[in-house]
Amino acid sequence: MIIARVIVDVPTRETDRPFDYEVPERLAAWTEIGSRVAVPFGGRTLQGFVVGFAPEAEVDRSRLKSLTDVLDALPPLTPELVELGVWMSRRWVCPLVVALQAMLPAALKGRTEKYIAPAEGAEVPPDADESEAAVWQAFRRGSAVKWSSLLQQFPDRGPLLKRWLKEGRLTELQKVEDRLSVKTVPVVYPPDSDKLDELLREFPARARKQRDVLAYLAEHPEPIALAALAEATDVSAQVIRALADRGSVEIRQVTEDRDPYQGREFAASSPLALTPAQQAALDPIASSLASREHRVFLLHGVTGSGKTEIYLQAIQMCLSQGREAIVLVPEIALTPQMVDRFKSRFGARVAVLHSRLSQGERYDEWRKIREGRAQVAVGARSAVFAPFAKIGLIVIDEEHETSYKQEESPKYHARDVAAERARLSGAAVVFGSATPSLESYAAAADGEGYAGDITYVALPERVGDRPLPAVRIVDMREELRLGNRAMFSGALKQALEERLRREEQAVLLLNRRGYSTFVMCRSCGYTCSCPHCDIALTYHRGSRNLRCHYCGYAEAEPETCPSCQSKHIRFFGTGTQKVEEALAETFPGIRVIRMDVDTTTEKGSHEKWLTMFRERKADVLLGTQMVAKGLDFPRVTLVGVLAADAALRLPDFRAAERTFQLLTQVAGRAGRHELPGEVVIQTYDPEHFSVASVQGHDYKGFVRQELHTRRLLGYPPYGRLISVTFTHESVPMLLSTGEMFARLMRERAASMGLGSAAQPGDRPGMDVLGPVPSPIPRLKDRYRFQCMVKYRGEIDASAMTARVLQEMGDNAKRSGVQIGVDVDPQMML
Ligand code: ADP
Ligand code: ZN
Ligand code: ZN
Repeated sequence: MIIARVIVDVPTRETDRPFDYEVPERLAAWTEIGSRVAVPFGGRTLQGFVVGFAPEAEVDRSRLKSLTDVLDALPPLTPELVELGVWMSRRWVCPLVVALQAMLPAALKGRTEKYIAPAEGAEVPPDADESEAAVWQAFRRGSAVKWSSLLQQFPDRGPLLKRWLKEGRLTELQKVEDRLSVKTVPVVYPPDSDKLDELLREFPARARKQRDVLAYLAEHPEPIALAALAEATDVSAQVIRALADRGSVEIRQVTEDRDPYQGREFAASSPLALTPAQQAALDPIASSLASREHRVFLLHGVTGSGKTEIYLQAIQMCLSQGREAIVLVPEIALTPQMVDRFKSRFGARVAVLHSRLSQGERYDEWRKIREGRAQVAVGARSAVFAPFAKIGLIVIDEEHETSYKQEESPKYHARDVAAERARLSGAAVVFGSATPSLESYAAAADGEGYAGDITYVALPERVGDRPLPAVRIVDMREELRLGNRAMFSGALKQALEERLRREEQAVLLLNRRGYSTFVMCRSCGYTCSCPHCDIALTYHRGSRNLRCHYCGYAEAEPETCPSCQSKHIRFFGTGTQKVEEALAETFPGIRVIRMDVDTTTEKGSHEKWLTMFRERKADVLLGTQMVAKGLDFPRVTLVGVLAADAALRLPDFRAAERTFQLLTQVAGRAGRHELPGEVVIQTYDPEHFSVASVQGHDYKGFVRQELHTRRLLGYPPYGRLISVTFTHESVPMLLSTGEMFARLMRERAASMGLGSAAQPGDRPGMDVLGPVPSPIPRLKDRYRFQCMVKYRGEIDASAMTARVLQEMGDNAKRSGVQIGVDVDPQMML
């Protein structure tokens, strides 16, 4: 008897353990670690994942139930992904099934009918013996065969069918809502040539059109799409279907992979001769690949330094070893330009996974990977779970980007997942960035921080000796003093006029994030921050006060600026639309493309706007964060930033880091080719080091200062955080649950002899702050409070949190308080 250990799809702490099921004989060949199965559970049939096998059940025999079904012919998860899921569930304190579900494409999440079909162009394997050929015959009539009937027909050919699936001869389809989620097209298969000759000889002369079709097939004896044949012979589809009805030809439904990039031409590209600096950066990565030794690299290269070419050549090496590669790109920077470069180098071996694809398209791309037809996956965050079996390399481009953190459960960070996955398979990891996250940088620079050991490689210069653009910082308080109340400073206005005259282009960034939450003085740039946490205070409209949501400190909204007594203390900024109007007023005839959430909801709209801009149908590309990254346009010689410091006021200890990163990124859009670039940054806080360091492109200077602050306050990379959010309709209920959590955590910390995390020195310590109202204190009629666990040193705080929550289990359940855990939160919201 074989026992499968199954994690059922009930995402609660109580059911978060494997349950035992007997594997019936008929399913034995199909049940593997990573298989999705149907099981009886509490009177219902549920989905689950096989995570292991055991010779003996832990429950007694009479109560042991059997698997009802295996849901996919090839397990959607590999054993390595299951292991990764176990690690994720511990690390981010979530049920294992939540971690496993996060790895699957959405199209696979429901219960669906499965079909098996020959892959495009697949024929009976040349080495097939007679009995195997007989199995292949099952696919001749209308090629998609229901999987369940295939199993009935060939109960003991499981291993054979599975091998064909893994060899990419067969492919797995599924029916979703009565529609095949895989696109199929009718293809005409001609009979063999003897039979064709015979048909042509005997065919009734009056059926001229049908004869024409046969004559065409006699000359072109390959299978041909029905539509193409109809066109080539100038007959209707009806005529060909009639031929099939007589048995003269055969029509099969053949799967056609929807290629989201279909119709786009990718000029083939070949490896460039590397510059000495690039070669020096690639060498250590290459040697880690060659020795198949797991290592993590931080590739710190300024914008335009040729990082992408290094990724491409490392991938090339990885593929030539017969291993596979994953490239993660941030969602927003997933511009066609980036995908183009991978497609032109590796062609059809690339599968592209990102959220702008339809569910069906994503599923097709995912199957290419699962069935071994693609070896490179390029995609956003979740592509880190691409179901490869022989990973050799994982690249994370722009590794500092926030989009790598998932904000719903499992709240994982793709950077950490990549490092762990690579460790499990002996693969190399490359984190690339012009402005590395402080976590990665600290781990690379001196082995401090929690990201582990990282090898630092640098590309400090742009390719081809192109200079980095000149950066000018404009003090907007000064403009106000001089009587300029407009959005554009004198300097920016003049620079834009020049671009219009010279027929060059400009990118304008309006940094809007954070504007609605803080109070700033327009006269002197003063903003209110917490005296205890060095975090901007958040404005709460309801109570009209300012609060720190780390520690709960509160003060009344000021009437006049505490620093300069000006009445211009409540400035919340402006939107892109207003800027667009101001541009039209100030520069009559200017052509502007506006890119923000409103203009880019439609599929393909990003691409459309960028193509228009590339074709110089606009003078200015105006937008939010999405114009800051990855773009490369030869005519762009000016970058303007309208509110450089807005993000500085976010109530987040990473505010300075984010500001520096954003400004550096957007500055990097200017002067990437022959024409030199210029950057104008408008700010109310020109002295702030995160703005000032951009001027000298001084990453290291910025980092030195920021790391100093982080160390003093015990923030990452020196300390770490876990935020725990409690929501309920009633505040007293919330408070008592939150207080219980804080008390239990403090007790545990005390029993472990931990001191404060804020103490100087490197002794391990832990503070539990709160409960305090969350920055969004009420959502959908539920109040929200949070506790912040701040700790440093080698402490498994995830496990501590999980144990405390388990202890509180019944209590919290009875009260109906919902508890959310965010380990290493990125957005402090
Ligand atoms: P990054 O990814 O660091 O921003 P890119 O890889 O986009 O930089 O390179 C910047 C530009 O330099 C691109 O136009 C690229 O084609 C070019 N380039 C990169 N490496 C080389 C090389 N070895 N020789 C010539 N041109 C190169
Ligand atoms: Zn002021
Ligand atoms: Zn505070």
